[in-house]
Amino acid sequence: MRDDIDVLVHEVGPRDGLQSIQTIFPTEAKMEWIRREAAAGVPQIQVGSFVPPKNLPQMADSAEVVRQSLEISDLTVAALVPNLRGAENGMAAGAHQIGVVISVSEAHNMSNVKRSVDESLDGFSQIVEYRDAHDDYKDTVLSGGLATAFGCTIDGKVEISAVMRVAEEYLKRGADRLSVADTVGYANPKQVKDLFDELYRTVGTDIAVGAHFHDTRGLGLANAYAAVEAGVRELDSCLGGLGGCPYAPGASGNIVTEDLVFMLEGMGLRTGIDLDGLLEAREIMECHLEDEPTQGAFVSAGRPLGFEPASVAA
Ligand SMILES: [Zn+2]
Repeated sequence: MRDDIDVLVHEVGPRDGLQSIQTIFPTEAKMEWIRREAAAGVPQIQVGSFVPPKNLPQMADSAEVVRQSLEISDLTVAALVPNLRGAENGMAAGAHQIGVVISVSEAHNMSNVKRSVDESLDGFSQIVEYRDAHDDYKDTVLSGGLATAFGCTIDGKVEISAVMRVAEEYLKRGADRLSVADTVGYANPKQVKDLFDELYRTVGTDIAVGAHFHDTRGLGLANAYAAVEAGVRELDSCLGGLGGCPYAPGASGNIVTEDLVFMLEGMGLRTGIDLDGLLEAREIMECHLEDEPTQGAFVSAGRPLGFEPASVAA
């Protein structure tokens, strides 16, 4: 990670946000959003998902969005893929980081991708082999995502030992980093602290670990704080908290990027992100939305008097 930031904020709105809403953003609208947010200092953006267009028309232009995003200096361009075919397309487009997601819960993984967890892990191994067989892709970072790590809408409780097993399998099979997700917004801060403590005990502290929280039940930022306290230095979030939860109509989506940056900067943790710039990016994103709700407290309440962001003070 860059040494001028303490916590890497990874914007996932152009993927996680957009795939959960009805409005289809044209490529140029996505690029306006991505460019403005990168200009505000956001170091990494997940710009799309390499899935069959018939499944997710919103993501059909991901290759083009990756290509245009690569022209933005200092931006790490990330994309999500469901399988080897997607990974081939993502690497061919040039994405710096390719994310794979496997649900720790067997029932959730089966209902999502019709595969057992072990079959999905074998799919991840194929992606690593493909990357390693192509010299052009040797720098591509492969991220192992663990969905439903804090609970599942089908299985309910997810055992911490199951999360550790998938994490260890990922690393054994060549993952460069891990990303632990509360996909359905079940987590509480104590559970987050306990899980990451156990994860660092299990996999060590050399491996980069990210966290992905949804604010479905209002604990998103509290969980982000608990993750930071446990040592996590990469957090996913979404501008304006765009996108809801497919399991809970009306509930909010990912934690809000602006609110997360406000929290971290206020805590003395540098993100390298300018809050005013983020609000401008938010306006640009919002003007393309058709009746989709956005979230966020910082945007309505504004800066507290005397607030000194860590990135500016440094
Ligand atoms: Zn998500």
